[in-house]
Parts: sequence; C-alpha cells; structure tokens
Amino acid sequence: MPNIINEIKLDFKDVLLRPKRSTLRSRADVNLFREITFKNSKKTYKGIPLIASNMDTVGTFEMAKALAKHGVFTTIHKYYLPEDWAAFATSNPEVLSFVAVSSGTSESDFENLTRVLKEAPGVEFICLDVANGYSQHFVEFVRKVRQTFPTHTIIAGNVVTGEMVEELLLSGADIIKVGIGPGSVCTTRIKTGVGYPQLSAVLECADAAHGLQGHIISDGGCTCPGDVAKAFGAGADFVMLGGMLAGHDQSGGEIRHKTDGTKVKLFYGMSSDTAMKKHAGGVADYRTPEGKTVEVPYRGDVEVTLLDILGGLRSACTYTGAAKLKELPRRATFIRCTQQVNTVFCN
Ligand code: 5GP
Repeated sequence: MPNIINEIKLDFKDVLLRPKRSTLRSRADVNLFREITFKNSKKTYKGIPLIASNMDTVGTFEMAKALAKHGVFTTIHKYYLPEDWAAFATSNPEVLSFVAVSSGTSESDFENLTRVLKEAPGVEFICLDVANGYSQHFVEFVRKVRQTFPTHTIIAGNVVTGEMVEELLLSGADIIKVGIGPGSVCTTRIKTGVGYPQLSAVLECADAAHGLQGHIISDGGCTCPGDVAKAFGAGADFVMLGGMLAGHDQSGGEIRHKTDGTKVKLFYGMSSDTAMKKHAGGVADYRTPEGKTVEVPYRGDVEVTLLDILGGLRSACTYTGAAKLKELPRRATFIRCTQQVNTVFCN
C-alpha cells in the first residue's frame, strides 16, 4: 500500500510571521549582510544572501553587475561561452565574488565548466543544477566536481527532503538548492504530480543541512518580498529568485511592444519548449516540457525592485525583532492562516 504522510505541509501562502516586541529603533538599523563559511570549501561569503536564478532570462552578466553593487549574488546561466566569461572577468573583477558559474551534468557541461573556471579563475562558486537532484548520477557528478575543484564552493540541487540534502553535503556540496515545483514558470507539479510545499521543504532541509554544518538555498515560489522574509525565517541561508527579477532591463531578451501600448518581456522556464528550442534544438520525443512561457510587464531597472525587496526584508526583521538577518529564524514564529491579504480592491 502506498505511504501517506498525513501531517499538513505548508507553503508561503499558508503562514504569516508573528510580530514581536523589539528594541530596534528603525529598519535602517537592520543588517542584511551575512558572513557564511562553507562546510567543504571552507570559503566565506560576505554579502546579502539573495540570489538571482540561473535562468537565461535572469542570471545574466548585466544582472550580476547591477546586483553585486548591493552585495547580492547571481548564479550566471550556463549558456555563456568561456570567451564571454574571460571578457566579463577581465572587465568586472569586483563582481566575481558575487557570481557562480552554472553547469548541468553531461560530459560537455563538465568540459565547459572547466574551461570557464580556467578563463575566469576569480570565480569561486559552482552551481550544479538539475531538475531532479535524486539520481545517483547526480551524486557521482557532485563527487567528481568536488575532487576536481577542492576549494570551490559547490551549490547542488534541486531536492526537497533532508536525506538527500545530507547525501549531497556528504558528497562534497556546500549549499543545497531546495525546491521542486514551486517556481513561477514551472509546470512539474502539473505534468508529474511531484513536489513538496516550499515552506515545509525549507524548514526540514535547513534542519538537515545545519546539523552537518551545511547550508541551503530556498529556490522558487517567492512572489513578493514577504515570501522572501518567510523563507529566511524558515531557516533558508540563501533565497533564490526567478520571476521576481524577470522583466527588467538587466533580464535577458528584447522588450516587446503590445498593440495596447504596454511593454512586456518574455520569461520562460528552463524546461519550457521556448528554452529547449533555443538551447537544445527542440523538445526530445521522450519528454514533455515542464516549464511555461509568459509575458511579464516591462519593469525598468532592477535596482528599484531590489531596493523594494531589501526594504521589505529589513521591515520584516524589525517587526520580529531581528537586528540581523541571521537572527530571523530564531525570532520567527509562523502563524497558520486561512487568508493573508485583503483582496477587496484586486481585479
Ligand atoms: P521563481 O522564483 O520564478 O518562483 O522560481 C525560480 C526557480 O524555478 C528557478 O530557480 C528554478 O529552480 C525553477 N525553474 C526554472 N525553470 C523551470 C522549469 O522550466 N521547470 C521547473 N520545474 N522549474 C523551473
């Protein structure tokens, strides 16, 4: 008989953070910067632990330049050539401590990764990204990359359960990317029925990772700054954003002018047919796309959006009495709720 877990698992939308008495005077007093030292690489990240996703419309060099000015990190998408990296690294040395190079697990991905790290030796982070981090092949690939690059910080994912977080950390990864199915342009749950509510995944995976001195990224499902605060409150060391950073000048793709006078940009999942046509020459017969393509309103410079997110986070810290982002999980009490927002003026 199949197992059923009857305990209710939660998403960001199911909870609110409870306010607490605090001695903080102003949100300007809140420190969002963290120093995080990694389990295997022994390197230390000094910055705000927000990450732009390695989607090709979000994890661009332009995004990295804009975000690094504020101490925010970008996982660069894997479709830049080693020559592009060489040029970027030479002209933007100050950005290099805020970027990761991304890779899949094929032989050619590994060759490309090796070449990029040769061309851009200042890059210290590697993001090993597959849709399903549960395969033995992925575990072996993480081991191989750890052996080849013993002092680089390795991000690996995606998974949603504690036992796989532990396995990947023990195989050499430093930071585990958590999230299956919560993304704004992800259709995995519709196509496969597989997934895990994101807040519970973060709570459980953070617990598993921290027990081994590892770290996690909450990846996907944040729709507003409040969700980012909830992810940190649940124990995420880093929070990765796709859709919230889409549609800006720094996001990939052209601006489209609609007949009604509005401007939009294309945003799509990395397993959508748009992405597969662009990068793999089409969708292979044996698979179905697990991502969708949408038009998002054009939103100008990403800096405005970023400052809004950082402002929201600082405010969440003052409401809960956390002087530093690091203290947020200790100060966080989640209240389960049936309604979060008043929708009377929403269409
Ligand atoms: P968002 O912040 O937009 O909610 O989620 C971003 C995350 O969605 C990405 O970092 C990545 O993990 C995930 N993602 C991106 N493209 C796809 C896709 O095509 N399919 C699935 N299942 N997930 C995707």
